[in-house]
Amino acid sequence: MNDENRALCPHRRACGGCQLLNLSYAEQLGHKQRQVIGLLGRFGHVEEIWGMAEPYHYRNKVHAAFALDRRRQIVSGIYQSSSHAVVKVDSCLLEDELADRIIVAIRGMLREFKLQVYDERSGTGWLRHVLVRRGFTSGQVMVVLVAASPIFKNQKLFLSKLLCDFPEITTVVLNVNDRFGSLLLGPKSKVLYGSGFIEDELCKLKFRISPSSFYQINPVQTERLYAEAIRLAGLTGSETVLDAYCGVGTIGLCAAAQAKQIIGVELNADAVRDAIVNAKLNGIKNAWFTAGDAGEFMEGMAADGQKPDVVFMDPPRAGSDEKFLRSLLRVSPARVVYISCNPVTMQRDLTLLVRGGYRVRHIQPVDMFPHTEHVESVVLMSRDG
Ligand code: SAH
Repeated sequence: MNDENRALCPHRRACGGCQLLNLSYAEQLGHKQRQVIGLLGRFGHVEEIWGMAEPYHYRNKVHAAFALDRRRQIVSGIYQSSSHAVVKVDSCLLEDELADRIIVAIRGMLREFKLQVYDERSGTGWLRHVLVRRGFTSGQVMVVLVAASPIFKNQKLFLSKLLCDFPEITTVVLNVNDRFGSLLLGPKSKVLYGSGFIEDELCKLKFRISPSSFYQINPVQTERLYAEAIRLAGLTGSETVLDAYCGVGTIGLCAAAQAKQIIGVELNADAVRDAIVNAKLNGIKNAWFTAGDAGEFMEGMAADGQKPDVVFMDPPRAGSDEKFLRSLLRVSPARVVYISCNPVTMQRDLTLLVRGGYRVRHIQPVDMFPHTEHVESVVLMSRDG
């Protein structure tokens, strides 16, 4: 089957998640390349984007919203990008296929076990979302049931059927979210089966990932992205490295063997806990992680006269902030490796760093999100001169 045929997704209009499905994969890569050149080309040559050999079913994390349709039938699927309506999706070109099958099976089990779906308008009912995460290398599968209350009717029977039908599932977590709004997970979780997290492997290291921790969704491209980021950092074994916005510590830990020490900072306390465990899991003794705002942490470093040699920064889509960038300029590391999933905010941040005396040395786009408009880039900067 060629690209164009496979790209014919029956949900494409209603869902809106795959903005580039009307293009062949080769055309998509061209489109992204031009987009990155348009935004970042002013800073230097843009290398050719790295595409995927098999750009389907790459998402290791699948999130399904549950709702009732107009005929009060249970539907599960994806929030329409332009509204809060749930588009019924049983299988998606991007998502892990086992994860999709688990979600459809859960939908089918709800009536049998007298479990209701949460209704946003009336605030009644129980199940709101299901999140499935699958370790690409380890094969471990985590199912998170996000419900409006901790009372789980027929829990035992439900779980034994689910685990019997899907022996691949290694852990099940109940997360309670009784709030309005678009936040997926609530603050409280209860482990119903297994350890409450999955482990996966990246760059030959093991990583533990808790339900709320960020973890790159495309493991194949993540390994290439990290390898390039670490190559660009030019580590020799003597460097102090800051991994800012570090999540569960993946980039810093993958670089640890080539550096003197790694310091990681991350806002999400659960992710930091994972990062500390991950250092131990891999016997890495030269990495420290701390919970907090990266900008504040960087300001503290500047105030204390600390000077990392290399800074990896991998902020969320909104990019970094002035606090971080201005103190980065004060701290003045020899090399900055900026990883971004949004070239628009990356352009803004690079502009500030270039004004502050850095020069962009290398720009590598990576297609982490085939068929969607999103594009990842990794950029190396060093001091001018
Ligand atoms: N480098 C990691 C995570 C990147 S995603 C990886 O590759 O897996 C961006 C991370 O930044 C998320 O984990 C998010 O929780 C964190 N974050 C968001 N705002 C932050 C802030 N102000 N300070 C520190 N971390 C932040």
